[in-house]
Amino acid sequence: MKSFTYTGSPARIVFGSGRSNDVASSVEALGCKQALVLATPHQKSDAEALSERLGALSVGVFSGAVMHTPVEVTETALKVVAETGADCVVSLGGGSTTGLGKAIAYRTDLPQVVIPTTYAGSEVTPILGQTEGGRKTTVRNASILPEVVIYDPDLTLGLPVGMSVTSGLNAMAHAVEGLYAQDRNPVSTLMALDGLRAFRDSLPVLVKSPEDTDARAQALYGAWLCGTVLGTVGMALHHKICHTLGGSFDTPHAETHAVMLPHTAAFNAEAAKTELAAAAELFGGPIGGGLWDFAKSIGAPLSLKDFGLSEADLDRAADIAVETPYWNPRPIDSSSIRTLLQNAWEGVRPD
Ligand code: NAD
Repeated sequence: MKSFTYTGSPARIVFGSGRSNDVASSVEALGCKQALVLATPHQKSDAEALSERLGALSVGVFSGAVMHTPVEVTETALKVVAETGADCVVSLGGGSTTGLGKAIAYRTDLPQVVIPTTYAGSEVTPILGQTEGGRKTTVRNASILPEVVIYDPDLTLGLPVGMSVTSGLNAMAHAVEGLYAQDRNPVSTLMALDGLRAFRDSLPVLVKSPEDTDARAQALYGAWLCGTVLGTVGMALHHKICHTLGGSFDTPHAETHAVMLPHTAAFNAEAAKTELAAAAELFGGPIGGGLWDFAKSIGAPLSLKDFGLSEADLDRAADIAVETPYWNPRPIDSSSIRTLLQNAWEGVRPD
């Protein structure tokens, strides 16, 4: 066996149907008394209901979270933190709301309780992506990692099918890249494979029966595992390309991951054959084609063309994606990345 370094995450994970009803005990266990509940405008009423459940432990709701954590929104939220005297944040929502909670924690060191309602996985990573003046930057810091995560599948029953599919594939991309990460370890590999299995088994059920509680629990369990892999080991080509497309061309986050995953997996298939073998088996054949067939069967978007990108954009995206050198199992150059992007743009099935 290869030598490895394993660092366990100190976060407390609370998992199960109905567990968010007892959010108060998580706030109290942190030694906090004044929680500010965070949400997007879309989930404001859910956040208000949660705030009511917290009773005297809540100082109110800030429902201004938006995608990509703009610094201006964080600054507005920080004023609310100061005005209310909040001593912790409770983030209810997807990666955007979690991002706002992390941005607050990064600047104040306030503890965070996160109640995820998508499969993005941000709640278990010490990574914060934020935007200022249209530029997205990423920071990694121990203060960013949420202290408590409450995974309550009941809160995901209403996640629309399309979002469940793309968010699930977004999570699966963390696991696929984790399998060939240079700093992988036996535990990250176990988590990645069981995360992929959980989504393979649950997403097709959710497409037909979005309120299937067992499948929702499986998917959320997969989200935890895949997110933990993202937080633990380094990512490569897939995340770099999705970051480029989202950051420079404003393509939608989860959907971009969903379209790109089969193509980036196929690109790395030969170079990481051994590392990807068990995942390929899970999807019934060569990893790229297997993932593409799976994505198609659950109605995922398959083409970058659908996000309004032009072929000229692909030239620029290929150049940006290779600008700063980074590790990938297969060496990268602008022309091979351009071909990869063309295939993803056209939506062709990779081999
Ligand atoms: P999101 O949080 O932007 O959610 C999209 C929309 O769906 C929002 O309006 C939200 O309120 C709504 N929504 C969320 N859950 C819902 C539910 N159960 N029912 C109905 N509506 C619901 O989307 P996301 O894909 O979860 O997060 C994307 C963001 O997260 C991006 O900015 C991405 O960069 C970031 N992210 C960060 C990390 C990290 O480790 N730092 C990891 C993954 C994603």
